[in-house]
Amino acid sequence: MDKILIIGAGGQIGTELTTYLRKEYGEKNVIASDIRATLHDDLMESGPFIRMDAMDSRQVYQVIQKERVKQVYFLAAILSAVCEKNPEMAWDINMGTLNSVLRVAHELKFKMFVPSSIGAFGKTTPKDGTPQLTIQRPNSIYGVTKVAAELLCDYYHDKYGVDARGVRFPGIISNVVPPGGGTTDYAVDIYHKAVKYKKYTSYLSKDTYLDMMYMPDALKAAVGVMEAEHDKLRYHNAYNVTAMSFSPAEQAGAIKKIIPEFRIDYDVDPVRQGIADTWPNKMDDTAAREDWGWKPDYDLDAMSKDMIDVLSERFARKGQNE
Ligand code: NAD
Repeated sequence: MDKILIIGAGGQIGTELTTYLRKEYGEKNVIASDIRATLHDDLMESGPFIRMDAMDSRQVYQVIQKERVKQVYFLAAILSAVCEKNPEMAWDINMGTLNSVLRVAHELKFKMFVPSSIGAFGKTTPKDGTPQLTIQRPNSIYGVTKVAAELLCDYYHDKYGVDARGVRFPGIISNVVPPGGGTTDYAVDIYHKAVKYKKYTSYLSKDTYLDMMYMPDALKAAVGVMEAEHDKLRYHNAYNVTAMSFSPAEQAGAIKKIIPEFRIDYDVDPVRQGIADTWPNKMDDTAAREDWGWKPDYDLDAMSKDMIDVLSERFARKGQNE
């Protein structure tokens, strides 16, 4: 059984990916790591944890060599809205951590998952049916780091044979750990506010369409591309993957089917609206479907029902004031 290391395991995706992989591959075989000192209680109890700064390539090398790691899920990053507040830090962390781990991958030869994002597109990208290969001129610093990361993974693959794979994730909706400061965070928060207060104020305008995905499908995409046959991957990294595309108004409509009293209003944040306006309305993910059988399970209605069921039960258990 391959040993797996998750770098950035404490975040929105890493927390649920760690649990998922521990179930699939055995608890001892999946090592969680993060710059944070502690993770979600369930992760600390269910398997090994190493506190590690991914910028420190010496420590990364030592951990991977000692533990005989064969697969790394690399999730360390800072997200779009946080990046805009500190562009220098965004470049240093997003590129510094990746560069450090890719160098070690070149030496120790392990397989890597490196997620890109819809943020890797920009205002000159075709917005509807966004192709796999297209114009990528993002004007957010997050997007700049995501395009650079895609290219760096291609470079290490072509020059050194590093098996660095990945997908371009859309906004990910989940209910275990809150999102880390991205432009699509509203699509998670709306369910919390709908269940607690029956109303929500959106920072994106009502007709802003973006690609989205429910967490179970995001985990399926990450593991799917990692388990795909190497020779079938035409693009190797940065596969477009999507599950649904909706606007805040449409998402509110799906919530109203379950919570009829729910109301939405709008107070647009120019920074996050400005970023969202440059991202696709809906990507074309045919290449992922053809090359490694990508297919999501959740649409907007199925996801809304599950999110509302899970949160209603949790809030009822903990009381409304949690
Ligand atoms: P997150 O912000 O929730 O988690 C990132 C984790 O990385 C955090 O636990 C943080 O402590 C850790 N980290 C930061 N710097 C580190 C360092 N130097 N060393 C070790 N760990 C460090 O992010 P996420 O939402 O889980 O995203 C994971 C990846 O997926 C990122 O590359 C992100 O760009 C990408 N992505 C996420 C979404 C989304 O909607 N969540 C969408 C598209 C792409």
